[in-house]
Amino acid sequence: MNEPRIAVVGAGISGICMGVALRRAGFTDFTIFEKAADYGGTWRDNTYPGLVCDVPSRYYQFTFAMNPQWSQLYSAGPEIRDYLAGVAREHGLPAHTRFGVEVVGARFDGAAWQVHTSDGAERIFDFVLCATGFLHRPNRPDIAGLDDFTGTLMHSARWDHAVELTGKRIGVIGSGSTGTQLVSELGGKVPKVVMFQRTPQWILPTVNKRYRGLTKRLYRRLPLLGSAAYQVNRGFFAAFSQGLVHPGRMRSFIQWVVARNLRSVQDPELRRKLTPDYQAMCKRLVVSDRFYRVVQRSDVELVTSAIDHVQDTGVVTADGELHELDILVLATGFDSHAFMRPMAITGTGGRTLDQAWADGPRAFEGVMMPDFPNLFMLVGPHSPFANHPLTAVAEAQSERIVGWLRRWRAGEFATIAPTAAATNRYNAMMRAAAPSTVWTTGCRSWYLGADGMPELWPWSPNQYEKRIRRRPDPVDYHLGRPALSEK
Ligand code: NAP
Repeated sequence: MNEPRIAVVGAGISGICMGVALRRAGFTDFTIFEKAADYGGTWRDNTYPGLVCDVPSRYYQFTFAMNPQWSQLYSAGPEIRDYLAGVAREHGLPAHTRFGVEVVGARFDGAAWQVHTSDGAERIFDFVLCATGFLHRPNRPDIAGLDDFTGTLMHSARWDHAVELTGKRIGVIGSGSTGTQLVSELGGKVPKVVMFQRTPQWILPTVNKRYRGLTKRLYRRLPLLGSAAYQVNRGFFAAFSQGLVHPGRMRSFIQWVVARNLRSVQDPELRRKLTPDYQAMCKRLVVSDRFYRVVQRSDVELVTSAIDHVQDTGVVTADGELHELDILVLATGFDSHAFMRPMAITGTGGRTLDQAWADGPRAFEGVMMPDFPNLFMLVGPHSPFANHPLTAVAEAQSERIVGWLRRWRAGEFATIAPTAAATNRYNAMMRAAAPSTVWTTGCRSWYLGADGMPELWPWSPNQYEKRIRRRPDPVDYHLGRPALSEK
């Protein structure tokens, strides 16, 4: 039996999940390349104050590594990072992981992939599995004068913990999940926080809850409790997702909840500034137990006049006002459509990834592309993102990938890629469904591609998982047969 040589790119949520799936399926010849020095991906990179996952931890975890020890309902960033690194260690991934090595390019030579890494090496693999994520490359906004700022300038995903915050005036550009969490955490702890908001967000209220020792002991002794909690959350998120993908009662209900939450802001002028002019969930819903309370503090200022430029002492807005600051944080999100790029990937016939994605990222079932045989993606284009946990998406996709690898090992094929026809059909089907989703109801968001269509799976995440777990239909694929001598 041939043992495939497998390269996994990235050691974040999906790379760890893939590595564990490979180990469990008995694959031994695989290397996980991680350009950073540790596991965790976006949970390793994001360490800003106030970072909390807005999906309950009993759901935001792998089903094969249920953690009975979660400290709270919504865990903080470091706890999730430690959980992910712990899963990697417990499942023997360090022996397979090369830290500090970046994959810079991969070229398919007709039979295998030549993988080029930042250490100057070229290695040959039968499969390349891209687990590169999409909340990875910080988006630096195109704002004039950013480099003229003489205080501390940092992106939220590159927090510099050496910077002393005490006594500082801190500006935060951005009002997404990150900006909201930052302002909620910093407000009241420093003399002044200024939030520069380009677009207001709807906020879903929640209550975080710490788990007591007794709860942790119960979850440790009764693993079924963990599974039950996972399923309850899964059911809740499935119901919530109905509001994302269809107009109807759930969408109206969420709208009612967030509008009611907004009424907790007392000052009518501040409330007006915080009121979005689009439907709830069109942009990724922000979840917070304290943002509205904190933004009403006298030492927190919400600035809605557009940013004109940044100068040495602070931010100048279009109304001519200078907002003097010591620290300026760019909570401006990520280049979420980069996926594997800037890796230079070349498939059959010299076709590059940039050429294949000239009109935007396209994939078949979120995991494969025509012309790129034996290359798989985890949480690739049109996977179900929104507020859904990526742990669940990565699990379903890694099972699909392992299914193909087993068939390769059994000698069923040498190369596999979806047909262009199947990929086009799949994408056309999603585009036809997109207008029912809330993401097309009139807002700007990172969910949308250049053509204004969402880059997300337009049905419920459970439907996606069902589809990705069924046996693939051979007519959708080009299967290259192995040479007779290999059989
Ligand atoms: P984001 O949702 O993309 O928000 C970026 C913010 O920056 C937006 O408010 C945007 O304004 C603003 N912005 C961008 N360019 C700007 C410019 N030139 N001038 C002024 N404002 C500008 O980024 P994020 O908040 O970092 O969140 C990214 C994703 O990370 C989330 O959607 C979520 O998936 C994930 N996340 C999750 C959690 C969690 O708890 N699970 C926490 C944090 C982040 P516009 O709205 O006008 O574009």
